[in-house]
Amino acid sequence: MLPLKDRGLLIVISGPSGVGKGTVCSYLRLEHPELAFSISATTRPRRNSEVDGENYFFMSREEFMVRRENGDFLEWAEVYGNLYGTPRWAVEATLARGQDVVLEIDIQGALKVKEIFPEGVFIFLLPPSKDELEKRIKGRAQDSPDTIRYRLSCVDQELAVINEYQYAIVNGQVEEAASEIKAIISAEKCRISRY
Ligand code: 5GP
Repeated sequence: MLPLKDRGLLIVISGPSGVGKGTVCSYLRLEHPELAFSISATTRPRRNSEVDGENYFFMSREEFMVRRENGDFLEWAEVYGNLYGTPRWAVEATLARGQDVVLEIDIQGALKVKEIFPEGVFIFLLPPSKDELEKRIKGRAQDSPDTIRYRLSCVDQELAVINEYQYAIVNGQVEEAASEIKAIISAEKCRISRY
């Protein structure tokens, strides 16, 4: 196995639905093409704006289960009634090549990843306020009213686990949040423990 400094860094980003994880990650991806972004598998229906193989690998529950049984997922979780999983091999191969990998996953998945990669970097995105979060979820207007209600009802539970993460970033302005994440990544790569 490569020494840590030669391996990519695993960066996990979580936060409540509607906080803007996707937007921040898209911005980071544009500004920092050196970062790799894992593409998750999901059984959630595709939103109009989403592209299969770019945003997610969309699949049936049956296909997801077969892949899960094959051990294809580094972690998987049921989130808001749908299954989501991180493809294992792509992440491991990318890290082994020395490239940093970003996972945008929920808190259950983050806790599992923490067990496998304790040296990972765990970042929690916060909304500027609960009112703003509600506005953003509703503003997305791509989920059904039931889905929106359910996602909003999960917020308090999600915020309660923030202490499991090492960093918290308030996503007020996308550019600022992305540049704070980049600063954290740069600092983490200089840790003495990686040498
Ligand atoms: P959405 O349906 O809004 O795209 O995502 C819903 C939730 O699932 C978000 O909290 C997102 O971070 C999480 N998620 C996306 N991909 C994965 C994954 O591969 N594993 C886990 N555990 N959560 C994921």
